[in-house]
Amino acid sequence: MSEKNVLFPGDVIANEEEYLPGKGTFADDGQVSAANYGIMDKDDKRREARVEPLTHVPRPMGHGLLVAGVMQQVRDNVAFVSLIPYTEGKVRWVAPQDNAVLRVANVRRGYVNSLKDEFLVGDVIRAKIIHADDDSIVLTTDDKNLGVIKAFCDRCRTPMELRKGELECPSCSWKGHRKLADDYGAGVLIE
Ligand SMILES: [Zn+2]
Repeated sequence: MSEKNVLFPGDVIANEEEYLPGKGTFADDGQVSAANYGIMDKDDKRREARVEPLTHVPRPMGHGLLVAGVMQQVRDNVAFVSLIPYTEGKVRWVAPQDNAVLRVANVRRGYVNSLKDEFLVGDVIRAKIIHADDDSIVLTTDDKNLGVIKAFCDRCRTPMELRKGELECPSCSWKGHRKLADDYGAGVLIE
């Protein structure tokens, strides 16, 4: 028997002592977490946790398309985002290996000193493509509906909640700041 569930990247699936990290997961600090947006597949026989991406047929992407991704690396001036494959009907919108960049100038209106002030590694974001060619995909989060849609606590990795306009960890009360999408926490990947 295996248990199935929809997961966001970064969601903790199991303790490493209970399940081995399988396809679509990563192990970190004794925990197995989802690397993809997809369906959880816990194989009790092999004691292995996997995440099957929600994907089917690829579709060309381009300027103006909304995408979701996970912050992989955040530097002062540029962040690297792995795009999350997702489906609508039988159409897949991005390929599993697609990566994109977000520059500090495209975070939001107004001056942003460093991307590290607005994002953390592991954040799930919704963004818009402003440039795409064979070599690179460039994103912007400069709009109300764009930005972080799921953030994890800096200290304990619990998904953070929006309380009185502030991001707060329900587990350890840590407060954080992000460039949020206006529907943060609604669980919608692409609106
Ligand atoms: Zn916390």
